[in-house]
Amino acid sequence: TDFGFREVPVEDKVKRVADVFHSVAGKYDLMNDLMSGGVHRLWKKLTIEQSGARRGNTILDIAGGTGDLTMRFSRIVGADGKVVLADINDSMLKVGRDRLMDKGVAGNVEFVQANAECLPFPDNTFDIITIAFGLRNVTDKDAALRSMARVLKPGGKVMVLEFSKTDNIALTKLYDFYSFNILPKMGQMIAGDAESYQYLAESIRMHPDQETLKGMMQNAGLVNCKYQNMTGGIVALHTGIKP
Ligand code: SAM
Repeated sequence: TDFGFREVPVEDKVKRVADVFHSVAGKYDLMNDLMSGGVHRLWKKLTIEQSGARRGNTILDIAGGTGDLTMRFSRIVGADGKVVLADINDSMLKVGRDRLMDKGVAGNVEFVQANAECLPFPDNTFDIITIAFGLRNVTDKDAALRSMARVLKPGGKVMVLEFSKTDNIALTKLYDFYSFNILPKMGQMIAGDAESYQYLAESIRMHPDQETLKGMMQNAGLVNCKYQNMTGGIVALHTGIKP
């Protein structure tokens, strides 16, 4: 099927991603629940369970947005640990900060505006790095993975939770129909913004599949790279370890 994908110049992509997240920030959590039927909570829960996070850990949640993962990690690492929620977009960061403050979990959380491609942290800083539904929005994904590997401690783990490729034709058809017909309409009705949700659907289709992303993580210097499909491959959780 031709969905009319087009190669967009790099600066256009950066601006488009910025516009999308400035536009959706206020309704982001509501839309996440509606569009995934709440299932994104399960995908995130599984990510936390597989992270092996412990008390006292230092964790980076890059492209952390409104802080779903950060909030859960914050409770696990406790007062002697730290979670850094980093995001390139100040609207998303603001919604995330306000939300975490409201929930009273911001004591061990730091908020940093940063681009995943060039993380502003020293080498070997973090025990765990997560990027959930963020990597597909990053222009130079290889640079981002290298940057994550650099700031990870040896033995530490990178976790990429992202939309991926379904492994079943019927599911793929259903999912395509949902993404390109229903999703933009929901975006229009609820957030008054069909275009942003059209972009999100397109960016999902353009994202590298499971094996390609695994190879990219290996190229970034990570070892023991593997992935686990969730919901028939609609989402995959990739992990890699810094040697
Ligand atoms: N991780 C959150 C979650 O799972 O709910 C938010 C995911 S949201 C779909 C994607 C986030 O990636 C947005 O907050 C956006 O601002 C951020 N983002 C996009 N490009 C980025 C980049 N180059 N560096 C850091 N964050 C980026």
